[in-house]
Amino acid sequence: MTIPANNPSLKSWVEVPPHSDFPIQNLPFGIFKTEYLSPVAGVAIGNYVLDLVYLHENGFFDGLGLPVGIFNQPTLNDFISLGREKASEVRQRISELLRHDNDELRDNVAAREIALIPMEEVQMQMPIKVANYTDFYSSEEHATNVGTMFRDPKNALLPNWKHLPVGYHGRASSIVVSGTPLHRPKGQIKPPDAELPIFCPSRKLDFELEVAFITCGETKLGSSIAVNNAEDHIFGFVLFNDWSARDIQNWEYVPLGPFLGKNFGSTISPWIVTLDALEPFRVKGPEQFPHVLPYLASEGERNFDLMLEVAIQPETLTETIVCRSNFKYMYWNVCQQLAHHTVNGCNIQNGDVYASGTISGPSPGSFGSMLELSWNGQRPLHLDNGIERKFIEDGDTVIMRGHCEKDGVRIGFGECKGKILPAI
Ligand code: MN
Repeated sequence: MTIPANNPSLKSWVEVPPHSDFPIQNLPFGIFKTEYLSPVAGVAIGNYVLDLVYLHENGFFDGLGLPVGIFNQPTLNDFISLGREKASEVRQRISELLRHDNDELRDNVAAREIALIPMEEVQMQMPIKVANYTDFYSSEEHATNVGTMFRDPKNALLPNWKHLPVGYHGRASSIVVSGTPLHRPKGQIKPPDAELPIFCPSRKLDFELEVAFITCGETKLGSSIAVNNAEDHIFGFVLFNDWSARDIQNWEYVPLGPFLGKNFGSTISPWIVTLDALEPFRVKGPEQFPHVLPYLASEGERNFDLMLEVAIQPETLTETIVCRSNFKYMYWNVCQQLAHHTVNGCNIQNGDVYASGTISGPSPGSFGSMLELSWNGQRPLHLDNGIERKFIEDGDTVIMRGHCEKDGVRIGFGECKGKILPAI
């Protein structure tokens, strides 16, 4: 599929610094506010945010048939509900308006000054009201590492793992936008040498490096999404930190899976990068063997070559990158995840969040959690400034970043960042 807005030769009249995550080929959607503006929809370009409400109200989107006030809202849910095709038209129109050879906005100084807001003047908000949240467990390397540590290295993957994308229903209410601090969770843990559980702040607080997709287009209860049509329902992607308290999780998770070890908070990046913008970065996923059941048999390139990294920044010190991974390692792709999720008749909604599961690569430096990086605390990581970490300490900020790069075009996600405050 060729999308004109993805053309690598496009240039914008808005200055885009080299290595910016937001060239004219990206145009991700988000919700921002300023000192003077309540939260509304915008698009990122270089170091600026383009105010979509202003453009809509001043006729720049005439002819697209957009509902009145569609961008003048504190979430993107209503816009997302218009579907992928309408979002593609809007992205295409924004691409035209920002092209170096288009004078509509470029030469309208008054409009330009209002519509383009420097990023340092905005505060990014949650882009959506999260309708439902599901977390998968789709990286073979991650599942193998965890199975090796907690169960049996010889049978690290449970018998179902290569037959279905394992997942659990998470908590929508505690998903927060990048920059929101979280308190260390408290809960029941059972130290290995103790006979009975104790109640205390988590001693094994962790991050999980994940990518999440956001769905558009409600389906009816009882209906299913076919694996090769699943992308019609995928609006875009964000970076996702599925914060995890390993000690709480370890004590509670049998038999029904994660609960309080996970639902105290998850952090997402504020810009939704559209599936359209990721088109040029498709790759084939890992070979799947044994063969999957027919309802999971996806065709074509359904993985994405999206480079990921995680940094830890201790209070008042500089950051150290502790992990470099890639979304392309996922064993189960997003189409298989959505097909499996709905095959029993479970309906989807506008603004659902589906996280990938921790994205670990094959080498130790590519493991997507402290649990794996420090091998459950047995091998502390050495950060800059002589600091050691087994898990996340109070005052640490965890920063996730991701970008695709090809033909001189870099499509980035910005940051997914969160600081851990002491337990209260
Ligand atoms: Mn997870």
